[in-house]
Amino acid sequence: MTAPLGSGAEVTTPPRDVPAIDIRDLHKSFGEHEVLKGINLTIQPGEVVCVVGPSGSGKSTLLRTVNLLEQPTSGSVHIEGVDILDPDVDLDHIRTRIGMVFQQFNLFPHMTVLRNLTIAQERVLRRKPAEARAVARAVLERVGLTDKAAAHPAQLSGGQQQRVAIARSLSMNPDMMLFDEPTSALDPELVGEVLEVMKGLAAEGMTMMVVTHEMGFAREVGSRLIFMDDGLIVEEGTPREVLAAPQHPRTQAFLSKVL
Ligand code: ADP
Ligand code: MG
Repeated sequence: MTAPLGSGAEVTTPPRDVPAIDIRDLHKSFGEHEVLKGINLTIQPGEVVCVVGPSGSGKSTLLRTVNLLEQPTSGSVHIEGVDILDPDVDLDHIRTRIGMVFQQFNLFPHMTVLRNLTIAQERVLRRKPAEARAVARAVLERVGLTDKAAAHPAQLSGGQQQRVAIARSLSMNPDMMLFDEPTSALDPELVGEVLEVMKGLAAEGMTMMVVTHEMGFAREVGSRLIFMDDGLIVEEGTPREVLAAPQHPRTQAFLSKVL
């Protein structure tokens, strides 16, 4: 669903009767190397799904497939009921419904914070500059950075830059947000402010898929925790269940290192 123009401050309400994300028997290979080996995952609107697992297990590839940055080798992915492998589908439109935040913030260094937030609104959503600025100011308030609109990224801390990156995604009024290790590049003392913003989004009902090693966040905010290993989901459940009593030996071994 497309948000009405000018409604930048609030989270859009996605359709409630279809899953936000529905992944069936998803396989992805790079050449001979099969990286995803049959993933099944259904995420309902408003769920916060935390994805955990060792390096190389396919977490980023899974997220990138959902965000249409990678084409699946086989299987199906539906976003809000739309089959993204259907050649007639408007992928550019679907992409605007999905916000993505990476470990590296990827802000435009030569632009102000405000311009970082307005450029895609104007170019992709065709919002008028005044409207785009109003939306940008509203989302900057949500991430606690109203006073940084005129700053350049290099003048901000890593935590502030990542909050700008989140604000930039929010300015497009996405129905769901994907986070790929959003705090992994940050100094430890800056992690909390980013997690707080993410907690706020979750509390407002944003559908989120979060690759993270922050088990405290997963326990507190996650509605589900998924453990991936070698291209498969080997365990899932509520974060409390999985963290308190992991069933799979791979999950046990991984958690014993990170907890
Ligand atoms: P994770 O995020 O869990 O660390 P990734 O999804 O990044 O894992 O990577 C899973 C595997 O896929 C790794 O072995 C990685 O080298 C490989 N891989 C990821 N992207 C590519 C690519 N574009 N080309 C070739 N191999 C890739
Ligand atoms: Mg990764």
